[in-house]
Amino acid sequence: MFGIGGPELKALFALLLYFIPAIWSSKVAKAKGRSGFVWFFIGLLFCPLGVIAVYLVPAKAGGDYIDCPYCAETIKKQAIVCKHCHRNLVDASQD
Ligand SMILES: [Zn+2]
Repeated sequence: MFGIGGPELKALFALLLYFIPAIWSSKVAKAKGRSGFVWFFIGLLFCPLGVIAVYLVPAKAGGDYIDCPYCAETIKKQAIVCKHCHRNLVDASQD
């Protein structure tokens, strides 16, 4: 009666298949300064497409990202030189 591969196991597998992309996209979204909560549901609804979408959306200031003080483009917090305008960001913060 409790053979492996029953409906319970299939349900569990389907659940994992939906939750892994959901958690994944929420983590990527948070790193990009976006709402992890919203992206959790996008990942849950669209599965692999939600994960692809979260990589495609531009990062927002907040999280691991800040706005460049010179060109206002979004760049990584750890950046030393802006990838858009190539200005030195370390000198700016030491003034
Ligand atoms: Zn810049």
